[in-house]
Amino acid sequence: MHILVTNDDGVTAPGLLALAQAVQPLGKVSILAPDRNWSASGHVRTIDRPLRVKTITLPGGLVANACDGAPSDCVALANAGFFDEKVDMVVSGINTSGNLGHDVTYSGTVTAAMEAAIWGIPALAFSLESAENNTPSDYSTAGIIAGRVTEAAIRYGISPHLLLNVNIPDLPLDQIKGIQATRMGLRVYHDKLDKREDPRGKPYYWAIGSLPTGIPERGTDIGSLAEGYVSVTPLQLDLTAYHFLPELNTWEWKE
Ligand code: MN
Repeated sequence: MHILVTNDDGVTAPGLLALAQAVQPLGKVSILAPDRNWSASGHVRTIDRPLRVKTITLPGGLVANACDGAPSDCVALANAGFFDEKVDMVVSGINTSGNLGHDVTYSGTVTAAMEAAIWGIPALAFSLESAENNTPSDYSTAGIIAGRVTEAAIRYGISPHLLLNVNIPDLPLDQIKGIQATRMGLRVYHDKLDKREDPRGKPYYWAIGSLPTGIPERGTDIGSLAEGYVSVTPLQLDLTAYHFLPELNTWEWKE
């Protein structure tokens, strides 16, 4: 079992080290991750320049490969043959904040796993949802959970071209109620336009507002986390809205 570890917070992020250490007992671990932060960069493939990779050593002595491409570039590079040995599974994270509901389309953590799904490689994305802020300091509990979920994914297998989006509440291990299979919930974004002026009188814009919240409906990723469970959502890349196909088929296209 050759496990690729990547992330979107950058190869030196503490969440990546926690994840790499957590999956080490499960197989041979290789690390290929971005050399900088690519959070909220979406699904990227770099096609207009070459990719460069440097070898670095992480705290504790783990050797890692730092790439100047995006998380999904790292996964593509690994699956295309960067390592001598073929990759059997991709784990991404542990991200510094939750990737819930529509976040999955923004998330570099999740889109790294999506890239693996395109290649037909089983993949899991791990994120740590911290209620208070965006910078959890301790990944030890999340690492334990990530190890457990990855072990189960190896034991049971994941259907080709699916990925698991795993969100872990930032709670002590004995306060986590369990692990639940969920569907994507509804994120609520609080984006607002903040127009300012630069020293030369030209306008510039912030359009991000405050941190997103969500509707904590039971059975969803957001609902599960709100109740203190780990959420595991199976995702697929077929985004077709099948329920709308019959209606679309009734449309008459004008000349
Ligand atoms: Mn991130």
